[in-house]
Amino acid sequence: MLSGEGMDVSARCEQCGAQFDVGEDCQSLHEWLVGYDFDPDNAVPHAIHFLQVTCFMVQHDRYSDEALGWAQAMLRAHLEGGMDTRRLRKFVTSRLAGAAAETRAWRFQRASDARPLPRIAWQVTIADVARRMRQGDAYDEIVTLWARTMFNQMSALLVL
Ligand SMILES: [Zn+2]
Repeated sequence: MLSGEGMDVSARCEQCGAQFDVGEDCQSLHEWLVGYDFDPDNAVPHAIHFLQVTCFMVQHDRYSDEALGWAQAMLRAHLEGGMDTRRLRKFVTSRLAGAAAETRAWRFQRASDARPLPRIAWQVTIADVARRMRQGDAYDEIVTLWARTMFNQMSALLVL
């Protein structure tokens, strides 16, 4: 667009496979989305913020095996149970309390020497979320679709 050179220059995220225009990457998009979620003007429900963060963490190998199991259970509760924001927040809080840092024997964060996770050709990535937002699609619908497709694909990541 700016010059005739490098028309096809694009970057692909090694972890989630997202395809980007020059200058974008998953981490910076994620940070932008977190800012978007907490902007009072956007009135983003807590449940949608939770789904957004969980999708990013799962698709970028940030979760330990135990946390992946936790994430799958949380996604199932939300997507199949049709939880509203208040119930989900209560559920998240109680599950987190049950897995409090002082008592639980596992970490959320994936260790650097953990088994490598299989690559999955995700149907929806954070790049798609950004693209649809620019098109003016409803944010909660985009994020819910992201979470739903990821939930359907993520079982290959789990050991049990
Ligand atoms: Zn990525």
